Amino acid sequence: MNNLKLAAARLNLLRSVIDVNGVRFGEDFVVIAGPCSVETETQTIETAIAVKKAGAKMLRGGAFKPRTSPYAFQGLGLKGLKILDKAKKETGLPIVTEVVDTRDVSWVGEYADVLQIGARNMQNFSLLREVGKSGKPILLKRGMYSTIEEWLNCAEYILAEGNPNVILCERGIRTFETYTRNTLDLSMIPAVHTESHLPILVDPSHGTGIRSMIEPMSLAALVAGADGLEIEVHIDPPSALSDKDQQLTPGQFTLLMKKLAMLREFMADLGPKAVASIEGNTSAQPSGKTFSEAVD
Ligand code: PEP
Ligand code: MN
Repeated sequence: MNNLKLAAARLNLLRSVIDVNGVRFGEDFVVIAGPCSVETETQTIETAIAVKKAGAKMLRGGAFKPRTSPYAFQGLGLKGLKILDKAKKETGLPIVTEVVDTRDVSWVGEYADVLQIGARNMQNFSLLREVGKSGKPILLKRGMYSTIEEWLNCAEYILAEGNPNVILCERGIRTFETYTRNTLDLSMIPAVHTESHLPILVDPSHGTGIRSMIEPMSLAALVAGADGLEIEVHIDPPSALSDKDQQLTPGQFTLLMKKLAMLREFMADLGPKAVASIEGNTSAQPSGKTFSEAVD
């Protein structure tokens, strides 16, 4: 990828760690969770309390919703940001929320700990420059029609403004397949790790659009090396004003978080020690736990 200067993998292979209020992307496996849209104070705060209890490290929620139809719910705007602020005060969870307009970057940035650039705005170059200038941590989603090269060049726009705090998020691309909302391209995880030093999250909610597929795709993303997940959770998905078919209930999210924790423990045994033991180096054994001990 010829044009990359700042986003390209470093010669020393060191990966970036982006610190947001002590949450360390690229070092910890970070799960961001929360509703697609901020709808009411009760819906947002109850969801925030539930996802925090289950182990999420950040709260997501859209106050500005880029919807396919201009007549669909567009988000609560400033009122939504104020609700997110209350949820943050209640739970301590930092806030991830989308900004869609260059004119809104500075004041949305007063409420957001991480500014999200949505798939539809991935190549909005003036918006990328503006969030670059803000210096805020940015979650840059992959455009639904974009190649990895185009995506990393968009990260480059933000980095070139002197903002090193860029986190990537794979959220699926348009293909000929119509069964799922998008085709979740998990192969981008190792690809981004090869081409860039930036952390990469996976959004299995928009990536599939199907509630029952969130869990298997989340577990697969962890195994494939993702640095975290962004997952939509709603206290009552059937009543959601947007994306009701892809939001988990708090119960489903809690179960998923438990499975992710078990899988991480199991995977810890698959590192260099496992390789050494497979190659016959008996002085470097894995923990010795069986799979069922590791997940108990
Ligand atoms: C979102 O995360 O709220 C969203 C709209 O996702 P995307 O931009 O990936 O469609
Ligand atoms: Mn959504």
